[in-house]
Amino acid sequence: VTTQMALVGGDESSAARWTERYSGALMNTFGTPQRVLVRGEGAYVWDADGNRYLDMLAGIAVNALGHGHATLTAAVGAQLGTLGHVSNFFATPTQVALAERLLDLASAPDGSRVFFTNSGSEANEAAFKLARRAGSQLGGTSERPARIIALDGGFHGRTMGALAMTSRAAYREPFEPMPGGVEFVDPSDPASLERAFADDDRGPVAALVAEPIQGEAGVQPLPAGFLARARELTAACGALLIIDEVQTGIGRTGSWFAHHQSALGEGVVPDVVTVAKGLGGGFPVGAVIAYGERVATLLGPGQHGTTFGGNPVAAAAALATIAVIERDGLLDNVRVVGGVLRDGISGCGSPLVADVRGAGLLLGVRLTRPVAAQVAAYALEEGFIVNAVAPDTVRLAPPLILTSDQARSVVDLFSTLPDLRP
Ligand code: PLP
Repeated sequence: VTTQMALVGGDESSAARWTERYSGALMNTFGTPQRVLVRGEGAYVWDADGNRYLDMLAGIAVNALGHGHATLTAAVGAQLGTLGHVSNFFATPTQVALAERLLDLASAPDGSRVFFTNSGSEANEAAFKLARRAGSQLGGTSERPARIIALDGGFHGRTMGALAMTSRAAYREPFEPMPGGVEFVDPSDPASLERAFADDDRGPVAALVAEPIQGEAGVQPLPAGFLARARELTAACGALLIIDEVQTGIGRTGSWFAHHQSALGEGVVPDVVTVAKGLGGGFPVGAVIAYGERVATLLGPGQHGTTFGGNPVAAAAALATIAVIERDGLLDNVRVVGGVLRDGISGCGSPLVADVRGAGLLLGVRLTRPVAAQVAAYALEEGFIVNAVAPDTVRLAPPLILTSDQARSVVDLFSTLPDLRP
């Protein structure tokens, strides 16, 4: 913290002063920051006033190994000290090794390849471009463009292509017009999916994009049968099935990818998977996994790329994160501790708790009243960071290293909630 304070200019331990500096210097993002956080260790973070919080949000499903993990820190430092960045005119061993590791974890068939990005939105932008290339192969033209089917409730990011596939009106409307050719179906209405594919007066379908669990919609798993039918329909017309695992991937639900679990993935093999968030354990890195030769070669040389995508330090962070998840048996930990949280909270007896949805350590606690914001504010005072993802839903997405004892302290928090009102 001393070094950090030297970098940022002065030993300003007062949270109020930081908040003032923040609003004088930074544009809006999600809203007014609730605390100034200065340090983390394991599943805990500390604010500028020295208060400790159990981090049940982990940077929104990001810090897989918690905070200040020694292996991750060493891997990042070693790579930065050896070769911190090169352009994509060159390859690096870490970048290649991470691509191979992801293809292996994904059980992707021969000919599959990986494209690296710095975030989930960017991974979905690349998927959008893959879909556009597939659309023109399938006969889409500027007069009769190929269509991308996205889902009501889906969230894929706030950059323009990702936003075009994101359903929430409040995120889209201020920035219209959206990139065209995207249509929405209601995942709870099977007829809506059939209609999107049946209507042949319109252009061909280029792709369907779905999250196995819709995180931002309040941790909503897809209705049973949806993904399997979407796979049949896309396969029948050559359209891509894009699975957005940005929030659910890399161990968060207790398997490397959520769709690998039969209850969530229904046995489908996708054409494209996007990941980010937990992949770098807190370091910004995302990836697009393109399954098979056809999809992996949709983008020709020079058709897409970024300066930073595939950066060796980011790749080293991701390799270290994956290695620790494997070495420390964290997929098992996610299932066990996720069960403690889920069963504990659903049975905690609080009249405010309706039910708990999700899988592993991505859980949505649905409340009997729209008081999620009040629950999050109360939790913060009690030393817990949780997230009001919807008016009636509290999201829990802690580090994958969370212990059962820490989970039980969260159950206690829910069982002793005061009688909060909207
Ligand atoms: N896709 C999903 C499913 C997400 O949950 C998110 C972020 O919440 C994104 C994409 C966007 O990722 P990023 O914020 O890294 O751009």
